[in-house]
Amino acid sequence: MLGAVYGDIIGSYYEVHSTKDYNFPLQKESTFTDDTVLTVAVCQAILNNPKNISVFDIRKRGYEYAVQYQAYYKRYPHAGYGAMFTAWAKSDELSVQKSYGNGGVMRVVPIGYAYDTLEQVLLQAKASCYYTHNHRETIAGAKTVAGSVWLALHGKDKKEIQTFCEKQFDMKLDVPIDSLREYISFDSRTNKSVPPSVIAFLQSNDYESAVRNAISLGGDADTMACTAGGIAEAYYKAIPHHIQSFCDSRIDFGLKTVIQRFRKTYADR
Ligand SMILES: [Mg+2]
Repeated sequence: MLGAVYGDIIGSYYEVHSTKDYNFPLQKESTFTDDTVLTVAVCQAILNNPKNISVFDIRKRGYEYAVQYQAYYKRYPHAGYGAMFTAWAKSDELSVQKSYGNGGVMRVVPIGYAYDTLEQVLLQAKASCYYTHNHRETIAGAKTVAGSVWLALHGKDKKEIQTFCEKQFDMKLDVPIDSLREYISFDSRTNKSVPPSVIAFLQSNDYESAVRNAISLGGDADTMACTAGGIAEAYYKAIPHHIQSFCDSRIDFGLKTVIQRFRKTYADR
């Protein structure tokens, strides 16, 4: 799941300084953002309670995810959250928000690592959206990404992953990346950013090219690279050394500790 965190870090600079250049340089100002913080919050919720749920537990399990989102927001309040999430996270009570933003999608990669069946992954993805993104579009996006990670980890090929994603979104994902690049601009709506992120992965050859594809679309760069990078790592099982050393020094110690615990429990098994 470091593939998601690294994608966020590399994309952070280009969220603000949008690029359409595939050969963009790694920028020294790069930093982790809300995508990483909330991905770690999901890791924490899973480490605290790794049990499977049934369809009747969505709300209860959703509450456990939501408590972690608020706790991590309070620990890292300046990580670039959206206005709607910030207002929700600051509030003393847990209300149910119906956002269709991609914030509910950027944090779900760990779910794909933690559970044994695709059915359980999809239930957990839905629960993770319950309090902040209770909207069918974001729930579909969260299922797409967590499910794709699970499929990749279980040896499914790109054709199978594509078919699964197309079913979730009811949308064809065979558009050539170069033609997508021509008309994409910043849009954090799930339906505008998640399908192109999946395409960025599908048309990649390795981890780095997935992240470069996602960022050079010129959209919501950190979140799109987090999403594409998360699936790409699960699929290719390798991240180049220069990317690891560039990003590792940019992750806060408190986040790194949870990531290491999560990886030891799930990703390295
Ligand atoms: Mg971000």
